[in-house]
Formats: sequence, C-alpha cells, structure tokens
Amino acid sequence: MSQRTAVIVGAGQAGARTAAALRKQGWQDRILLLGAEEEPPYERPPLSKQVLTEDADPNAGGIYAPDWYADEAVELRVGCRVESLDPAARRLRLADGGVEGWDVLVLATGCEARRLSLPGAGLDGVVSLRTAADARALRSHLRPGADVVLIGGGFIGLEVAASARRRGCNATLLEMRPQLLERALPARLARYLAQRHRREGVDLRLGVGVAGFEGDGGVRAVRLSDGTRLPADLVVVGVGGLPNVGLARAAGLPCDNGIRVDGACRVAEDIYAVGDCACFDDSWSGRPVRLESWENAELAPQAAAKAILGGTERHGGVPWFWTDQYDLNLQLLGLKQPVAQEVLRGDPDSGSFCLLGLVEGRVTTAALVNAGRERRPLKRLIEARVALDPATLADIDRPLRDVVSAAT
Ligand SMILES: Cc1cc2nc3c(=O)[nH]c(=O)nc-3n(C[C@H](O)[C@H](O)[C@H](O)COP(=O)(O)OP(=O)(O)OC[C@H]3O[C@@H](n4cnc5c(N)ncnc54)[C@H](O)[C@@H]3O)c2cc1C
Repeated sequence: MSQRTAVIVGAGQAGARTAAALRKQGWQDRILLLGAEEEPPYERPPLSKQVLTEDADPNAGGIYAPDWYADEAVELRVGCRVESLDPAARRLRLADGGVEGWDVLVLATGCEARRLSLPGAGLDGVVSLRTAADARALRSHLRPGADVVLIGGGFIGLEVAASARRRGCNATLLEMRPQLLERALPARLARYLAQRHRREGVDLRLGVGVAGFEGDGGVRAVRLSDGTRLPADLVVVGVGGLPNVGLARAAGLPCDNGIRVDGACRVAEDIYAVGDCACFDDSWSGRPVRLESWENAELAPQAAAKAILGGTERHGGVPWFWTDQYDLNLQLLGLKQPVAQEVLRGDPDSGSFCLLGLVEGRVTTAALVNAGRERRPLKRLIEARVALDPATLADIDRPLRDVVSAAT
C-alpha cells in the first residue's frame, strides 16, 4: 500500500504534540509539520515570565530536541506559511507557491494577539506578545527606569507587569473593566491579585479607557479617555487572542469562535483541529468550548491522533490553567460560572489558600494560590460532582485527599 500523508498546519505546541501522538499511537506513514514561524516548536508560557526576567532563551523550551524530528521521521518545515486549503482536492498551497497533498489534515494554527485600532497604535514601541520573536523584542525594552504601560488586565498584561517590575521598570497597568480578569477570576481573588500588584509598585488603574498613543516614530505617551497623558517608553497590548481561523473559513470549513470540531477534534472527514484555534464539544461540560491553555494544547492532540487512528476517545475534562506573577503561582480548575457559595480554604494572609466555588453543594471551580499540592484532589472532587459540607472543605486540618476518598 502506498504511503499516506498526515499534514499538520501550525508548528506550535499543539502541532508538535500531534506529530508525536500520531507516531506514538502507531501512524507509520509520512508526517509533514508546517510552521509559519522561523523556529522549531516551543512552549509559550515562559515568554511572559522567565524569558523576560531571566534572559532565558525563548527557544530553551523547544518542545523536542533538534534530532527528534529526524529520529521520528517528522518532516518539519519552519518559515513555511500555508496560504490556502482545498478540501475537495485534499491539497494545500504554500506561500512560496509550493503545493502539498494530504490524506489527513490537522489544523493547529493557534491564536494571534488582538490588536487595537486606536490612533498611534502603529507607533514603534506599541507591541503585543505572542511569539519568541515578540518576547526578544519586548525584553530589549525592559530597562531599569523605563516607563512601561500595559493595556489589559488579563494574564499576559499581569505577567508582563510583574516581569517589568522585576527588571526595575515603572509599570502602569490599565484595565477598562472594574475588575482584573473578569471572565476568569472570582471578584475576591481579583482584588487579592490587584492588591499584590499594587504592593509590588504597579500603578494599577481599573475602569480606565485608552484613547490613543502619542509619539513621533516611537511611542512617547498613552492618552486616556479622560484626557490624562501617561509617559510611555513601551506599551504592551494584552487584550486577548483571536483564533487563527482564516485558512479554515476560506476553505468553507465551519468556524464559530474557532474552528468548529466535534468531541474527537474532527472538523470534517479526515480533517481535524486542535489547540487554541479549535472550539470543541467538551465531554465534561457538554458545551462547545475553546480553550487557550497549555493543557489543552497537550491533550487535544492525543484525542485527535486517537480519532485519526480509528479510536473513539472524546476530548475534554475539567480545564486547568496556571499563571506565575512574582512569587505567586495561581492555578484555576474549571471555567468561571455563577456559583451559589464560595468557600475559602486557608488564610489569604499566609500567601497560600484555595477559593472554591460551589453550586448546590458541589465544587465546580477552584482557584489555588501557592497551593499546587491541592490540585489533584480538587480536580477529583470537581469530577466527582458530589455535594459536600462547606465546613469540611474549609477545614485545613482535614487533608483534601481524605475528604475526596471519603466522598467518592
Ligand atoms: C506569552 C504567553 C504566555 C502563556 N502562558 C500560559 C500559562 O502560563 N499557562 C497556560 O496554561 N497557558 C499559557 N499560554 C497559552 C499557551 O501557550 C497556548 O494555549 C498554547 O501555546 C497553544 O498552542 P497552539 O499550538 O494551539 O497554538 P500556538 O502556540 O499559537 O501555535 C500555532 C502555530 O501555528 C502557526 N500558524 C498559524 N497559521 C499558520 C499558517 N497559515 N501556516 C503555517 N503555520 C501557521 C503559528 O505561527 C504558530 O506557530 C500562554 C500563551 C502566551 C502567548
């Protein structure tokens, strides 16, 4: 039988993991991994953290060693942008004019940083952070005493604010909503985080709109909606990501807040999508979900590879996300939803605690501050969907793993 070809578009975390999962699960034919960036696949979480604070090489987090690709017979092409897809002919066109055919296609095109269309947004020094190249450029501006303005109180803005302070910059963070991370965090935790940033010297301003940027060539100031002018040597725009769906949409594939896939990451016959770009039928919540997280970029490729090789595994589960700011490690389990009750486990003043969200007595979400050891039992508790006494959950003298064992 002739060789079949699996083509993966997007050589980020999810693309690389798909190649590995296919090999591991028994795909013996050709694998072609095509990536628009100039570097081999790497992980993005360090870009806003160690890469900025410790001068770490953005590619030190290369997902696989250079030899891995040859050893596993994965044909990696970097600097190789796919321009269009023709699902009927099972062919794609590259930006350099080349054409490749596929038997199986996996789209792992990720996200791009959302841009602001405000006056002056094109000035030098108004940047966003998505790639290793962005991180290198950003780092070169983080000089002691520099005025850095962060736009957006989401994970990227907050992490970069923390990194900028570590490098001795003045950091001002502007968030238009009255709360940080409104879509992800309970208000109580958002206030805790805001307090911590202020204590670290960040000038944190909530409920503030940005009108534009001033400068000639390079940015010099940020103008707020109320007319205030803030000096700025660097502006980092962290206002969220947009899934890269252009290729899929132009090819007539279904897109709705991402490339629409079923519970096995399938878009259409022999076409799959994984990672940040995909909106999947989540086996846990039963709803369509699109996640921008390291964990999802690890797990979706496993499910897609299984489906490609004839298996039936469904993708999904209690989502997990983490962020590091200063010495604060925050982990989130579950997606924010209205909760009937909040239970605090531990003392925020001690710097280590959990905040649990309950619906009808069941834990549905958990936020862990410097309490990573509680992650596994809490995940099991959420999965178990059992009602528990809030006083038991709040009692730090009762190890969670015992509570879980008794309840499940
Ligand atoms: C700065 C930063 C910090 C983060 N920190 C955390 C964290 O602390 N915790 C956490 O859980 N998650 C974090 N994340 C999120 C996590 O890194 C992403 O969810 C993950 O990288 C998604 O992987 P992906 O492969 O789906 O997409 P990506 O990593 O975006 O990869 C997609 C790749 O596809 C390529 N591509 C797109 N279109 C084409 C095309 N037409 N042709 C060829 N190639 C194409 C892109 O160039 C890109 O290289 C962070 C993300 C960023 C940006």
